[in-house]
Amino acid sequence: MSRTARVLEVLGLAPLWVRRERLAELQAAQLQAEAANEPAQPEARVERESAAPVADAPAPVERPASQRPAPPTVVVPSPASRAAQEPQQIVQPADARSARIAGLDWDALQAEVAECTACNLCHSRTQTVFGVGNPQAEILIVGEAPGAEEDKRGEPFVGAAGKLLDNMLTAISEKRGERVFIANVLKCRPPGNRNPTVEEVAKCAPLLQRQIELIKPKVIFASGRFAIQTLLETDAPVGALRGKVHQYKSIPVVVSYHPAYLLRNLPDKAKAWRDLLLLKATFKQQG
Ligand code: SF4
Repeated sequence: MSRTARVLEVLGLAPLWVRRERLAELQAAQLQAEAANEPAQPEARVERESAAPVADAPAPVERPASQRPAPPTVVVPSPASRAAQEPQQIVQPADARSARIAGLDWDALQAEVAECTACNLCHSRTQTVFGVGNPQAEILIVGEAPGAEEDKRGEPFVGAAGKLLDNMLTAISEKRGERVFIANVLKCRPPGNRNPTVEEVAKCAPLLQRQIELIKPKVIFASGRFAIQTLLETDAPVGALRGKVHQYKSIPVVVSYHPAYLLRNLPDKAKAWRDLLLLKATFKQQG
């Protein structure tokens, strides 16, 4: 562009007219300049803009069907190909251990418990505490977990709490080792006598479950919160569950306070006595 033309353009006066032979030359130069200044557009934006309706675009001319482009084919994946594309859900044999334990006989179950490393308590125990009594017992007493003394001796309910339990049994004419079997929900001692965790209870539950299946007691006496809540699958407090007969897989369950709790809360011994009477009555009813 000449200097004069540029001045006229800046003043907003150009080009009002040009000679015919210069017109093509000017238009070519202008197109070139526009092309050089045009910023590159991302493809996606071009697509979006072309897909958007243009308000003042001329109405599309209807073409005969034979000339229309074929509509895009929408491929609906078959269930099989969808399954192949989706991440596979790994089906963990979560219950494989439980299923195996459910098939053990008494001796194999004892060996399973003795060797068990299913939860972290295996690292801190002195020994496992399987339970004590008659494997064909009619009354099954289920407590919480071994304490320090039980961990040392390998027997549940020993020490002061054990003595109290023995006295309670004597009061209803029963005795450990005769028609009674005594076990705990957990077979290993939680360090420092802390409460068992949900995971520990869950890992140990199949072992207790199998014990119950093999003993086939006529009645279960669940002693203390963890035993009660594990067997009855509830988080209700002991006080709310006492005084009635519950069921564990069609076996009557009577609940009461743990002897260790009763040693610290002497007034509740009267309630525990009523629970023992309910246990005795329920047992009698079972013939
Ligand atoms: S507490 Fe039960 S599950 Fe945990 S290691 Fe001992 S026996 Fe196994």
